[in-house]
Amino acid sequence: MAEQKISICNLSEVFGMVEEQGQAASSGCGCKADTFTKERRDEGGRLIAIESGTDLHFCPLHAAAPEMYEVLKMLLKHYLQLADSGDCGLWDSSEEQEVIEVKALIAKIDGRES
Ligand SMILES: [Zn+2]
Repeated sequence: MAEQKISICNLSEVFGMVEEQGQAASSGCGCKADTFTKERRDEGGRLIAIESGTDLHFCPLHAAAPEMYEVLKMLLKHYLQLADSGDCGLWDSSEEQEVIEVKALIAKIDGRES
């Protein structure tokens, strides 16, 4: 699975809103952060601790991002093998706009962006 360093939505802003307001916040895409508090009690019902935290709920797009990243790399590799094999004719795949953009996106995600 991909490293969890992909940052393609404004979740950090959502976290900021949750911290400031202490309530659920939603990014524009549907990702949500909800604060929660939970009481922990012993067998006699006495309160031992109050736990709090933030639950993240990703929208379908951002939940799929790590998998999309892996599949995009796989698709690019497959395409380059096919295009560069010569079986489909001769052209320089590295000059194609689609290849340039996909390589730039992968480099951005990997933190290799110049
Ligand atoms: Zn999202």
